[in-house]
Amino acid sequence: LTQRIAGEGAAAWDIHYRALALQAEGEDVIILSVGDPDFATPTPIVDSAVDSLRAGATHYADVQGKARLRELIAHHHRQTGGAPATHADNVAVLAGAQCGLYAVAQCVLDPGDEVIVPEPMYVTYEAALQAAGATLVRVPLRSANAFQPDPADFAAAVTPRTRAMLLNSPHNPTGQVFTQSHWEALATLCREHDLWLLSDAVYAELIHDGEPFSPDSLPGMRERTVIVNSLSKSHAMTGWRLGWVIGPEPLIQHLTHLALCMLYGCPDFIQDAACEALANPPAALAEMRHAYRTRRDTVLEALADSPNVEALCPAAGMFMMIDIRRTGLSAQAFANRLLDEQGVSALAGDAFGPSAAGFVRLSLTVDTERLREACRRLARCADECRATVEA
Ligand code: PMP
Ligand code: GLN
Repeated sequence: LTQRIAGEGAAAWDIHYRALALQAEGEDVIILSVGDPDFATPTPIVDSAVDSLRAGATHYADVQGKARLRELIAHHHRQTGGAPATHADNVAVLAGAQCGLYAVAQCVLDPGDEVIVPEPMYVTYEAALQAAGATLVRVPLRSANAFQPDPADFAAAVTPRTRAMLLNSPHNPTGQVFTQSHWEALATLCREHDLWLLSDAVYAELIHDGEPFSPDSLPGMRERTVIVNSLSKSHAMTGWRLGWVIGPEPLIQHLTHLALCMLYGCPDFIQDAACEALANPPAALAEMRHAYRTRRDTVLEALADSPNVEALCPAAGMFMMIDIRRTGLSAQAFANRLLDEQGVSALAGDAFGPSAAGFVRLSLTVDTERLREACRRLARCADECRATVEA
């Protein structure tokens, strides 16, 4: 077997599978370990897929993506802070953002290239970049700085081999959002050193306050920015595997050649459903966004008086980081105890990188009542751990 598909990525979810097994055995487990929306895909989108299937959309589809869908994606991008000149030829449709990231890495990276990635980072980045032969250069996002980037750290990480930066805002796992001045500073670095800016925007629609921002809207950035996005989180469509890449036309053509030999186009009826999702945004989308915000506030309130845990307030998304350092345990040891003794599953921050050691990540994917119960259990677990340490 090759060494290229390395990385700890898959192991991060071991605890999640353990939690699912316990639940299947009838245990009262609250599963907060995976970022999969607990909402159903909005009905008009499902209906549209069914109608399309019945109408015979069961054959190969346009490999780059159906023209109407690419137009709708370009329009959506322009409406959500993207470069005003974005058009359908700047778009390739792929099977989810993950597939998009992997494909982009294959198209812009050569063996030996370095990619600067803020850490903590989404767990699959390492394998996706290494599969292209590239090396990750990790730049820490410091918890003392609420996991916000310090552009000086990025500047210090640039070498003659640097080919790209891979940025993710809103960020998984911290839920933090880059400010416009962060983007401007990082974009300047990309221009100065002739780097690609790869932007993973899968949580862009789940910002609680403020407007979405896309770095390709900055001067001189359109030709070097690649946006990866999907319907997975914004539309509760993780299982549909529908995502896209937006970038300069030559890259999109290159990507389409790769898609031809890798995927041969996303299913036609799913592309039709994606058209419906983007052409007529269902009211349910705003409701979901509102629910994530309410759940965030529920956790903040429920843990406010707990002496041994501290919740970091995310500006976006469906995750929260909980600082458990006062318990004296590693995040993995704490997560294990939380599951074994209290029946709550969370991911240890270390899975995303050393800068998140001492934190666990909660997914806000249960209703507020269950979330309150999860917080009670979490606080209890932290108190018991702390008591053990002090004894
Ligand atoms: N990037 C990040 C930061 C993610 O959290 C995820 C997981 N949803 C993905 C990419 C992959 O998303 P998709 O389901 O569209 O492949
Ligand atoms: N992106 C999601 C998370 O961070 C889920 C991805 C997965 O199931 N592997 O939890």
